[in-house]
Amino acid sequence: MARVTLVPTGEEFPVGEGEDILTAALHHGVNLQYGCRHGNCSSCKHWLLEGDVDDSAASVYAIPRDEREDGAILLCCTFAKSDLVIEIDQHGGVETLPPMTPPSPRRATVLGLRSLTPGLVELRVALDEPLSFRAGQYAEFTLDGGERRSYSLLSPPSSGSELTFCVKRVPNGVFSAVLDGLELGSELHLEAPFGTMFLRESGRPVIAVGIGSGIAPLLSMLSDAADQNCEVPIRFYYGARSSGDLVYVEELAELATRLKDFQFIPCLSQGTAEALPPNGRTGRVTRAIAEDIRDASLYDAYLCGAPEMCDAVGRLLEAKGLPGARIHADKFYPAVESAPVSA
Ligand SMILES: Cc1cc2nc3c(=O)[nH]c(=O)nc-3n(C[C@H](O)[C@H](O)[C@H](O)COP(=O)(O)OP(=O)(O)OC[C@H]3O[C@@H](n4cnc5c(N)ncnc54)[C@H](O)[C@@H]3O)c2cc1C
Repeated sequence: MARVTLVPTGEEFPVGEGEDILTAALHHGVNLQYGCRHGNCSSCKHWLLEGDVDDSAASVYAIPRDEREDGAILLCCTFAKSDLVIEIDQHGGVETLPPMTPPSPRRATVLGLRSLTPGLVELRVALDEPLSFRAGQYAEFTLDGGERRSYSLLSPPSSGSELTFCVKRVPNGVFSAVLDGLELGSELHLEAPFGTMFLRESGRPVIAVGIGSGIAPLLSMLSDAADQNCEVPIRFYYGARSSGDLVYVEELAELATRLKDFQFIPCLSQGTAEALPPNGRTGRVTRAIAEDIRDASLYDAYLCGAPEMCDAVGRLLEAKGLPGARIHADKFYPAVESAPVSA
């Protein structure tokens, strides 16, 4: 058993054999910035000051070579070979995270499956024990072959031990295949809560942006904001191809009656001006944001879904004056890299 010491915080925790450093930290209640836990997003990049590690599981593309030579490691795919001292880089020291519940395993029984669109499925489960989480966090389903797949909780913390997920079907996807075999009463195993997506209590107005299944963490955050009588202005840009791909429209309409200052702006990339829903726009979310927001410096932003969308919106908002530290992105990286496209 090795020990890890973090500087400058002085926090210490043990790391078990075969356990990556991030998982050990989370299980011991140590809060760190991280994202996908599969070595793809690089959010858990920190700096090894002392000790030996095995970081061969990290993709060579995850960290630039010069940073790797300077001691940069991804905690989610690095294993301790001795006691370690690690300098944590909380994104330039800008954000101290509030206490988060350490993740723990649960058994989940399927309560419902509903096709939302040809590509999106709603999965409802009941847990064997209640779960404490922050709206916006995610769960990891553990599958029989040992694979882990991440899905954001769509339901708010007030929903108790009944959780809802919005799952995108992926061709040849391991979890997508599991989903096809589920029926009412089927049992799943998951661990939760994970992630650092949650509504910061800054009092600043919010820009929330999601596409496709990226609505899941945002709907949880919006429902929780309504439960907490949150009064800050919230603009929610949701991207879909056409009005048939818009999901949870009734739930959003109900939230609009409970939130003090809420605008839902559906953006239809293949929509026509004649067939738009109320407040709807044609084009991608980036176009609507570019048109609507002149000065983004007043806002906090929450971006959820495809990494390319999060990156594009993040760049746009930064160009409009929003400091990067106030742009919180939950990038839905696949657990496995895409197979090369054949010519
Ligand atoms: C923090 C976090 C939260 C997430 N929350 C959600 C959520 O709420 N809902 C949701 O649907 N997804 C979510 N995801 C993404 C989801 O975990 C992955 O898409 C997952 O890998 C899909 O599992 P699978 O077993 O069906 O496919 P896999 O077996 O992982 O992948 C099969 C093939 O499909 C490709 N692939 C996988 N996912 C995608 C994708 N989304 N788009 C295009 N190609 C893909 C893979 O690269 C691979 O080639 C989240 C991811 C993260 C990191």
